[in-house]
Amino acid sequence: MEIFPAVQSQLVTVAYFSMEISLEPAIPTYSGGLGVLAGDTLRSAADLGVPIVAVTLLYRQGYFRQHLDASGNQTESPDLWNPEVLLEPLAPRVAVTLEGREVEVRAWRYLLRGLSEHPVLIYFLDTALPENSRWDQTLTDFLYGGDDHYRLCQEVILGFGGVAILKALGWEGKIIYHLNEGHSALLTLSLLERQIEGRGGEILQEADVEAIRKLCVFTTHTPVPAGHDQYSWEMAQHVLGAERSALLEATQSCFDNSLNMTYLALRFAHYINGVAMRHGQVSLGMFPRYPINAISNGVHAFTWTSLPFRNLYDRRIPEWRHDNFYLRYAVGIPLHEIQQAHAEAKRRLLAEVEKQTGARLPEDVMTVGFARRATLYKRLDLLFSDPERLKSISRNVGPLQIICGGKAHPRDDGGKEMIRHIFRAAQLLGDTVRVIYLENYDMALALILCAGVDLWLNTPHKPLEASGTSGMKAALNGVPSLSVLDGWWIEGHVEGITGWSIEEDDSSSEIASLYDKLERVILPQFYGRPLGFAEVMRSAISLNGSFFNTQRMVSQYLNNAYYPLRTAAND
Ligand SMILES: *Cc1c(COP(=O)(O)O)cnc(C)c1O
Repeated sequence: MEIFPAVQSQLVTVAYFSMEISLEPAIPTYSGGLGVLAGDTLRSAADLGVPIVAVTLLYRQGYFRQHLDASGNQTESPDLWNPEVLLEPLAPRVAVTLEGREVEVRAWRYLLRGLSEHPVLIYFLDTALPENSRWDQTLTDFLYGGDDHYRLCQEVILGFGGVAILKALGWEGKIIYHLNEGHSALLTLSLLERQIEGRGGEILQEADVEAIRKLCVFTTHTPVPAGHDQYSWEMAQHVLGAERSALLEATQSCFDNSLNMTYLALRFAHYINGVAMRHGQVSLGMFPRYPINAISNGVHAFTWTSLPFRNLYDRRIPEWRHDNFYLRYAVGIPLHEIQQAHAEAKRRLLAEVEKQTGARLPEDVMTVGFARRATLYKRLDLLFSDPERLKSISRNVGPLQIICGGKAHPRDDGGKEMIRHIFRAAQLLGDTVRVIYLENYDMALALILCAGVDLWLNTPHKPLEASGTSGMKAALNGVPSLSVLDGWWIEGHVEGITGWSIEEDDSSSEIASLYDKLERVILPQFYGRPLGFAEVMRSAISLNGSFFNTQRMVSQYLNNAYYPLRTAAND
């Protein structure tokens, strides 16, 4: 029996569908920012008591564990974990049709508890059942593994299996479906089939599409073309079967002889949004025929605040835990208390570095950090464009050390080369600028790293960073950013107040600006005017920590995306 079926609630339930969700470090079913955002969204929804339920896939083999050799060559191994220990298997089974055969799907339940009485349930879909063929059993093994065909089959499981399992578990009545990225777009087809069920050969009406549109919210997350799943029409027909693909075709959401999950989601969502103001505009440029809004991302404030800062906020602004807006009043915290909390977070990071690598880094050296998925547009290695310049800055202005991390997708050769580039640069920099690359960047490491460095660096290729969230985690811990003006930083940046921007006309001036800011502005302030630097730290908390959190973000989804439907559906 489910804890709170929608029928008992006056409110419409939100069903949040995401290919990846990061709930805790022991559940490695996420690859990066998308999954972290999904987890943070659900954590804040749980805090706020929002009636929401989530669906994702189980991924028994996790994403992967990253191993790096002395030259920075990445190898991968499965990240096996124990669903049996962390989740509860549920009895109901549903069947999903794939390539004409039935695949059995079950769900495992995770119970997420926030600050409210109200727990949020997350269902992990699983096909590893003896009734299924060997191959079908592997369909919920790997996140972003396998080829296009494997991926499309997974998306059928997520979309069709997800809708079916919610029904089987008793989630009926009014449900708003939130598609976190296009991966789950096939759920719209499943809803459409229900809409026209028993109508015989009658042709699909625009009103049918409209009925589904009223139920769906779509958040698009990337302007990078490879981030939008697209399948050949032949493959779609083969996997979905003749009848389903005919219905899909009738919806007029497929173009260019392909099934594009983004177009499908755009066609069926009444509310569409990008994840930062600029990203909303960029998405509108990509998809001019659709009404695209923007709700800027956030992070779950409590999760991403290190222990020293949790203690400080508890003492000075105790309301911050249940109402993140109170972080605005961090402006009244004495600077030396910010400095003390940061020094403690930094010691924790340096202890972790020593534990993992044996390297002992000094506490009083300016420490620059960055870590994110190692994929080309993120330009993880931009800082190392000119190692001689870095050496000269470190010698002449003040010493500098660098701690970084990030996984490359197993098939992303460009990303893997980027990691090797950083290792080569580290060799060149020797003891003048120490560089530490930490293996296997994950949620747990992200918290230690974002909180423990003195400056968080972000150098994506503009305009490809939809939002970015790691700089928000840093801000909550009083760590200012030095970043390209893209994604959230366009909104969060006040020069010299919350951090610094890297100005850009072309890529060489970007690199020059990056070094200039370090050499002329940031390092001189860090070493010469530490109280001035601490003021920037405090403003990062007060201006950005108070806004770029998922508590504010979820309330914006309620007001702009879910709530208008709630009234309409209650009519
Ligand atoms: C927050 C987070 C990310 C996202 O970082 P971006 O700056 O948005 O690229 C990726 N991976 C992990 C493990 C994270 O915690």
